Amino acid sequence: MKTHAYFFEHGSARGQTCELEQDSGVLKCTGIPGAEGRTFSFSEIDLQKLPGAEKWKLKIRAQEMGFLIEDKIWIEHLISAVPEYRHKGNRPGMPFPWLRIALIFVFAAAGILYGLYKATPWIADRAAVSLPWEWEMQLGEKIAAELIQKEQIDQQKTEVIREFYGLTMALPEEGHPSLPIEITVVKNDEFNAFAIPGRKIVIYTGALEAMNSHEELLAILGHEAGHVAGRHSLRTLFRALSAYAVVSFIAGDVTGVMAILIQNAQNIQQMSYSRDFEREADVRSHEYLCANKANPEGLVRLMKALQKKYGALENKDFSFFNSHPLTGERIENARKQIQENPCSGYAGDEKLANLFARLKKTSW
Ligand SMILES: [Zn+2]
Repeated sequence: MKTHAYFFEHGSARGQTCELEQDSGVLKCTGIPGAEGRTFSFSEIDLQKLPGAEKWKLKIRAQEMGFLIEDKIWIEHLISAVPEYRHKGNRPGMPFPWLRIALIFVFAAAGILYGLYKATPWIADRAAVSLPWEWEMQLGEKIAAELIQKEQIDQQKTEVIREFYGLTMALPEEGHPSLPIEITVVKNDEFNAFAIPGRKIVIYTGALEAMNSHEELLAILGHEAGHVAGRHSLRTLFRALSAYAVVSFIAGDVTGVMAILIQNAQNIQQMSYSRDFEREADVRSHEYLCANKANPEGLVRLMKALQKKYGALENKDFSFFNSHPLTGERIENARKQIQENPCSGYAGDEKLANLFARLKKTSW
C-alpha cells in the first residue's frame, strides 16, 4: 500500500515529498535521492500522531530522519499491521478537534434540556407549592371573575351553605395561615362541584338536588376542601402550563405566570386532576366527615347519588366527578376507609340537617 509522504532529515530545514510503500513488514521509499529504494523494517520505526492534527510522524529510530504522513487510511492499515502502534494517541480521529468539542457540547446541552423537559412538571409543581397563598388568592379572584360571570349565582343558597360550612370543623391544614374557604352555589342542573385557585369552591344546585342528607353535603365539601388544602387547582394549572410556568418562575416573572393563567381560565373546567389528587381529596373527605362526627357513609352515598344520575362512566374533568378513578373504584376506596377508620361515635347534627333542608328547598 502506497502513500505520499514528506521526508525530513534532522538538521535540514527543507523536506521533500516521496512515495512510501508498506509491504510485508517493511517500508520502502521512492523519489528521494540518497534514500531511493531504501527499506526500513517496522521494528526500526516509531509512530507518533501530532497533537490536534491528522498528521503522523514516522521516525526512523537512530537515523535522525523520518516521514510526515497525512493519509489516514494508510496509517490505519499500518496500525493494523503493527499492533504496538495501536495506542490511543495514534488512532485517527475526527478531522477537526473543534468539531468533536462542539459535538460534545451539543450532546451535553441536549441532555440537560431533555432532563429539564422530563423534570419540568415536577419543577412546576414545586413552584406552585412554593407560591405564597396571597398570590394564589389574588389569582383566584381574577379566575373566579372570569368563570363565575357566565354563571347565575344562587345568592340565598350561597348564604345558607356558607353558614353550614361555618358551623363545621374545618380540615386541619399545615404550613400556612388558615385562610377562609369561600363557597358559592351556582344555578345549574348538572351534578357538579369544583375547587378553583384562591380557596374557592363552586357547587351547582344540581348536586344539592341529588343529595339526600347533610352527610353527603359534608362529603362533597370535604372533598373540595381537600383539593383546596392540597392546592390541587393551582398545581394542575402549573403542570398544564409547566414549561411556561417554570421559565417565568425561574425568571421571577410571577406576574407573567398569572396573566397566562387568567387567559387560560376558560380551560380550567376542561383540565383534569390527577388520580392521586382525587384519591387524596376523597381521603380528606373521610377525615372531614369524621372530624364533624358525621356518618362516613356520607361519601359512599354521595357517589351513589352521582352514579344514579349519570351512570358509572360519567366524565367531567376538574369537577367533583372525574373520570379517573371511576366512581365504582372510589366507592370501593371509601368503603375501605370506613373499615380502617369507622369514626364511631357519630351523632346526628340538627343544625346542619336543618340548613341542609333549607338548601333542598326549590322556592324561597
Ligand atoms: Zn375532585
